[in-house]
Amino acid sequence: MNVLVINAGSSSLKYQLFNMDNEKILAKGLCDRIGLDGHLKHKPEANGKPVYDEDISLPTHAEAISAVIEKLTSDEYGVIESLSEINAVGHRVVQGGRKFSSSVLINDEVVAAIEDCVRLAPLHNPANLMGIRACQKNIPNVPQVAVFDTAFHNSMPQHAYTYPIPYKYFEENDIRRYGFHGTSHRYVSDIALDRLGLKSGSSKLITCHLGNGASLAAICDGKSIDTTMGVTPLEGVPMGTRSGSIDPSLVDIIASIEGTSLKDSMDVLNKKSGVLGIFGKSSDFRDIETAAGMDINTGFEKEGAPVDEKAKLALDVFAYQVAKFIGAYIVALGGLDALIFTAGIGENSPYVRRAVCKHLEGIGICLDENVNAVRASDYLDVTGKDSKSKVLVVPTNEELVIARDTIEIVK
Ligand code: AMP
Repeated sequence: MNVLVINAGSSSLKYQLFNMDNEKILAKGLCDRIGLDGHLKHKPEANGKPVYDEDISLPTHAEAISAVIEKLTSDEYGVIESLSEINAVGHRVVQGGRKFSSSVLINDEVVAAIEDCVRLAPLHNPANLMGIRACQKNIPNVPQVAVFDTAFHNSMPQHAYTYPIPYKYFEENDIRRYGFHGTSHRYVSDIALDRLGLKSGSSKLITCHLGNGASLAAICDGKSIDTTMGVTPLEGVPMGTRSGSIDPSLVDIIASIEGTSLKDSMDVLNKKSGVLGIFGKSSDFRDIETAAGMDINTGFEKEGAPVDEKAKLALDVFAYQVAKFIGAYIVALGGLDALIFTAGIGENSPYVRRAVCKHLEGIGICLDENVNAVRASDYLDVTGKDSKSKVLVVPTNEELVIARDTIEIVK
């Protein structure tokens, strides 16, 4: 069975077509600049056919999906003969609210519930809905499944998800911590439990999904009991361009300094803050580490390299905040079996893993500096000799989780 996985953003649409008999990717790609000038990059993975990488007109998501189907089935770039070889479509949906604690088959009622969650995720759910509607139009009569970023965190206890604000906002408006990156936290924690032989017993894990967006989760016996992102993905640790948790008064203070609206302040916190805000030149950790005088391959200082003090500070703030939440989650879990790093930075930055773990030495958690400097393309155990908890690198694969959930529901 083939499953098409769709991750629709407001002006982009990422896709991967999986053959779920062997979980191999047949093709993947990205429609970019939808509603603007339009660009499609399509990469066949299965048969050595060439990559398509061209500007094309993509006025809406519907044209994007039809361009994807055209490429998937074309003689020159295709990996399947016809549309009938797509057996199901899985969609990433960012916010599932209180209603969804697992993935679901999409029907009118589910679409209405995703629409109802737009008030909680105005930047993300409308784009996800555009992807769903475009597939309903272009790939009719094929079952579609919604996989929610929030679902895994639905197991959080009330004391973890309740904000200390007037309770009516929860009762009347569903305002609470939801958390995101749930498919990633679920996937990497599952692999870690399996590899450590902890699947059936009691277990305490902390997963650090450190990418452009970053969040941590405390996972007890396979269930999320707390996570750093909140009602939106702005809360928690500092990120590429997002501030993470700050004094909420800053929204008002920034507006008065700039003489602008509260909405403009939110833009500053979402798009101009985080490590970009401190460093000022880039939100990409490779640039920041290089500017801070680090060798990005080993995570060690490059002898004689100049050090940009703001780059160094941005990295210090990031590592400190990640470590601080790890400490908090060890309290939440009452101990720790394993600390897991994943996503772009967690998987690829020996420097960040080392900087975070330096803060944890006082509580007996450390990594092996030499193993940590090895480039991991797969599961890597970087635990230090005397560490009380395992420290692991586990590459994430959110698309595969979506494809697996889709197959399970469709079957
Ligand atoms: P993601 O959002 O998971 O794709 O992660 C993107 C982030 O991973 C960006 O900040 C990249 O700079 C970072 N990243 C990717 N490769 C490396 C690397 N070798 N060293 C440091 N950061 C990296």
